[in-house]
Amino acid sequence: MEKSLKERVLSGDRVTGRLHIGHYVGSLKHRVELQSQYETLVMLADVQALTTHFDRPELIRGHLFDVALDYLAAGIDPEKSFIFVQSMVPEIAELTVFYSMFVTVNALRHNPTVKAESKGSGLDEMYYGFLGYPVSQAADITFCKATIIPVGEDQLPHLELTRKIVRRFGELYRPVLVEPRAVVGDVPRLAGLDGHGKMSKSQGNAIALDSSREELESRIRKAVTDPARVRKDDPGHPDICPIYSYHEAFRPEGAAEIRESCTKGTIGCSGCKKLVAAAIDGLLEPMRERRAFYEQRPERVKEILLAGTDRARELGKETMLEVREAMGLDYFFR
Ligand code: ATP
Ligand code: MG
Repeated sequence: MEKSLKERVLSGDRVTGRLHIGHYVGSLKHRVELQSQYETLVMLADVQALTTHFDRPELIRGHLFDVALDYLAAGIDPEKSFIFVQSMVPEIAELTVFYSMFVTVNALRHNPTVKAESKGSGLDEMYYGFLGYPVSQAADITFCKATIIPVGEDQLPHLELTRKIVRRFGELYRPVLVEPRAVVGDVPRLAGLDGHGKMSKSQGNAIALDSSREELESRIRKAVTDPARVRKDDPGHPDICPIYSYHEAFRPEGAAEIRESCTKGTIGCSGCKKLVAAAIDGLLEPMRERRAFYEQRPERVKEILLAGTDRARELGKETMLEVREAMGLDYFFR
């Protein structure tokens, strides 16, 4: 299929751990769908991972190839998409510095996602890089002039900031950047196994995409359900049960029936969990095959990352020329 030359897709993930089924329904699935239509860039966000893991860079290094494998396993096709490493594209860092001059500290302090994450991060104080990561994210999106951004709901405040930065840049200098729009997943915020907030790789409440069938079943078995259900025939409350939300996400065709039998107390939690585990296993099975293929070919994975990073740099250089020109900082290199 001929790809649109007008629009570009960008999204990425912090390299803080293996990707999970929340990433799949929130964003990965859409990236896989969009890659046939648009030039798609997928970013291994190692710099953004440093905002909370600056004291553990070895962990980021350890996860880089794992997350790349997660992408390939989930169906990101290296023939259609570019996978690149954030820290290897210096233009992103350059843009971050330029943008940070006209973004106020107050705007960042009031960002609801930054607030929620700073509470959950375990960091004792607010760090400059952490507070500013939405600015860096604006650079991630604009360095390649991406317009379509498949993300989970937690990213919407950041997208709004990016749009503001693009407009402000245009007013201050010249309108050479483009405003992106979010494409939020069918399940914009998959609940965690612990029933507290969203599934998140750094909270230990996730089902990783590389789970074996046994791991998957055991994680689901231990998951929190409606605390009011002690005996099998106690009536349940699907709306507060993370397992029910997985039915909606992974076997929507059977969700109405589960809602009814849970509410009436005619299905027990263990039977309900088995059904959803089987559906998730059906999603993960083809991923296991693709993962095994690339796991046996580490040199190929490296080539894919090198090619993706080269393309990202090429786009970054083009944008930086325009940005410098717009700002009048193009002193003597032309
Ligand atoms: P961390 O805990 O390290 O921040 P995370 O699980 O929040 O990890 P990110 O790398 O921050 O994952 O997010 C990558 C992308 O996946 C973002 O677009 C985010 O919105 C989306 N995403 C993350 N968690 C979920 C979820 N539970 N449901 C839907 N989308 C999600
Ligand atoms: Mg996150």
